[in-house]
Amino acid sequence: MGSLNNNYALDFKLYYNTIDNALSSTNITRRGVNPATEEVLPLVPVSTREDVDDAVRAGQDAFPSWRELSWDKRAEYLVRFADAIEANLGAIAELLGRETGKPVEAAARELEFALSHIRVTAKLRIPEQVLQDNEECSATLRYTPLGVGVGIIPWNFPVLLGLGKLDAALLSGNTFIWKPSPFSPYTALKLGELAARIFPRGVVQVLSGDDDLGPRLTSHPGIAKVSFTGSTATGKKVMQSCAATLKRFTLELGGNDAAIVCDDADLAKVVPKVGTFAFLNSGQVCMDIKRLYVHAAIYDDFMQQLVTFAKGLRTGGGGDSEAFSGPIQNAAQFARVQDLYGEVSRQSLKTAMGGSLRDLDKSLGYFMPLTIIDNPPEDSRVVVEEAFGPILPVLKWTDEKDVIARANNTKMGLGASVWSGDVERAQRIANRLEAGNVWVNNHFHLAPHVPFGGHKWSGIGMDWGVEGLKGWCNPQVMWVTKNSGGRSLL
Ligand code: NAD
Repeated sequence: MGSLNNNYALDFKLYYNTIDNALSSTNITRRGVNPATEEVLPLVPVSTREDVDDAVRAGQDAFPSWRELSWDKRAEYLVRFADAIEANLGAIAELLGRETGKPVEAAARELEFALSHIRVTAKLRIPEQVLQDNEECSATLRYTPLGVGVGIIPWNFPVLLGLGKLDAALLSGNTFIWKPSPFSPYTALKLGELAARIFPRGVVQVLSGDDDLGPRLTSHPGIAKVSFTGSTATGKKVMQSCAATLKRFTLELGGNDAAIVCDDADLAKVVPKVGTFAFLNSGQVCMDIKRLYVHAAIYDDFMQQLVTFAKGLRTGGGGDSEAFSGPIQNAAQFARVQDLYGEVSRQSLKTAMGGSLRDLDKSLGYFMPLTIIDNPPEDSRVVVEEAFGPILPVLKWTDEKDVIARANNTKMGLGASVWSGDVERAQRIANRLEAGNVWVNNHFHLAPHVPFGGHKWSGIGMDWGVEGLKGWCNPQVMWVTKNSGGRSLL
């Protein structure tokens, strides 16, 4: 493979699907909106059934020779792709900021994590397991790729979540169709263009579209696997659609993560972390802290310090280099979040900070004020629902058993954390939490080689790490009968 050169320069005015390594437009197009400014963004394709058929055919054609390459060779392609993205880092971060509304620093951090994701994943291998090996025969558990895979991606981390599926799918020998959210298709389409200059034909394809595109992909008989990240409601539809052709699927769904702060927690250390992990990306992270249980003995102090900390978190759009978080990403989500904020007055909830509805006449952008609700009823909507906006309920607890039951009293099971000066005590509580990712004195430890996934209604299967690679494969047992010297093996 040649060295990196300006073949990787991208033009950011026009946006195409990438099908069989060709740029492809559609008769019908649509536009996204920059949620920080409400500026209308360039036209993007709305893929048809024929586009889906063409992409699936190209993916199927590419599969036999791609799977035949060694893992090392496929890894080389991935690293070259990461290098090509890095060569465009500033411009892609800026584009990501425009389509998501994220401050450019936050967009750059997402991209950098995505690049490290590709590079770390490229080094992973699924070990074969010899389950039996005697003089008569051996039995080995190995993993074989599935075929054409699809990644269906939400709008909150369009690049990290897209590339985090692409790298695992490709490394394990599958070809990959990337379907970004209609609310954030721009970076994915540009990364598709870049991929077409690096990978063999049909190995990576990107299709943008409207609400019909997801169901067209999940029901297509030529697709072997759907890796979906999005809401629980859509995840159920994906699972149902995959059933018709027995597609493999991974579901990474919604969350309503609880954090439990014990009375011996060091507030100076814990408050900034908890505050950050509650309001990161304006509450639009699947694993943001969404229910915060603070021990009654430290509740008042904690609340005071949390409010002081949160007041220092600046909200702003792409151009604001000092901003910590941006707006709600799209108009539909903005309307949902506004409705939830309406509960503050409807239910007479006590706010420690924020809580008012946005005055839409005053300024542009889907911004909502960071809001902390002071000890709301356990069954109020702000506690029970996944807000996916910057509104945090803080609740009091005194009894360990009781707080564990309250933390587990949800259909969701994505993440949960316990904060205490006594790690053993925290671990005792953490052991009883029903979630796919449980942290002691953190809520955001994430790494490309560590699998991530949800329990209960937060998902099925895991992405990332070797576990994630296995999700892109069929397990296969290879029995080899050795020279038996004419003896019957039965
Ligand atoms: P969403 O479910 O509305 O959409 C996700 C994706 O599914 C989009 O690409 C959308 O176009 C597509 N889609 C919509 N209907 C479909 C259908 N019937 N069949 C197939 N695809 C379809 O979710 P969203 O609003 O984009 O994202 C927010 C949600 O995602 C939140 O609930 C959040 O917790 C969750 N999320 C989970 C994780 C995780 O790792 N568990 C990560 C990020 C976001």
